[in-house]
Amino acid sequence: MSAKIIDGRQVSAEVKDRVAAEVAEYVAGGGRQPVLATVLVGDDPASHVYVSNKLKACEAVGIGSVHHELPAETSQDDLLTLVRALGEDDGVDGILVQMPPPDHIDPDVVIAAIDPAKDVDGLTATSAGLLAGGRPGLVSCTPAGVIELLDHAGVELEGAEAVIVGRSNLVGRPLISLLLGRNATVTAAHSRTRDLAEVCSRADVLVAAVGVPKLIGADHVKPGATVIDVGINRTDDGLVGDVDFDAVADVAGAITPVPGGVGPMTIAMLMVNTLSAAKARAK
Ligand code: NDP
Repeated sequence: MSAKIIDGRQVSAEVKDRVAAEVAEYVAGGGRQPVLATVLVGDDPASHVYVSNKLKACEAVGIGSVHHELPAETSQDDLLTLVRALGEDDGVDGILVQMPPPDHIDPDVVIAAIDPAKDVDGLTATSAGLLAGGRPGLVSCTPAGVIELLDHAGVELEGAEAVIVGRSNLVGRPLISLLLGRNATVTAAHSRTRDLAEVCSRADVLVAAVGVPKLIGADHVKPGATVIDVGINRTDDGLVGDVDFDAVADVAGAITPVPGGVGPMTIAMLMVNTLSAAKARAK
């Protein structure tokens, strides 16, 4: 293996330390402690783990939290009532509704009910529009975490060829805007891309956000490229990314592992967003 490993656990710990110091400074300067409200509907075990990790991170960095746990049969209207009430609650700075909700609830309708000023997941149309327009706003946590990792690894983005595989609203699309904002030359590949290996092998920076285990092999990667694997796929062999790590690590210059790469960054960036929402609301 020749690639340098980009350690998401280490970078995420550094980001959280930074947020903890900034929260302490903000509160010492007379600011109210930032508060994140989390909402979890139903009993999906993975969602419970995600929310509990987010609440632990809040505690670790000195951000307050209020958690709302609703039964799986909660109606969409009742959920919307709660989300709107949190939007009106002056003591709440960030609202996180754990996705996906149960099948009878439309996630887009729920997202639309979130006050954009408290949209710490960066999912509302307002947040997406600000990002697409290159204006400041709350940025979706996973793509923001990808940029943080690239910066930490010292990857030059200005003028770089960046290829993102995946164009979801959650990851791929925000990343297009973030990388464009950093003056990369950005290509978005997806399921209809004709020759994925050829497109990917142009990249100085290759981001895989697909959801197909080990889709990206050595033949997709330019020697020396930086490869960021957003994928989290549960397989019989355990958690696997979208990148065939062992094969690609022999070709890439730097690579994120799964687990321990992008995953830990998402929660760290949620902490960053909650603090910045609190500061913006206080102004
Ligand atoms: P989506 O399913 O919403 O999007 C997948 C994207 O991949 C689509 O744009 C799709 O193309 C594209 N795609 C699917 N198959 C292929 C293929 N064979 N070749 C090229 N492109 C393909 O997924 P998400 O963006 O939500 O998530 C992607 C992965 O990232 C998942 O593994 C998910 O678990 C993980 N993830 C990890 C997070 C973390 O914290 N680390 C957070 C969020 C997601 P098309 O648009 O044409 O259908």
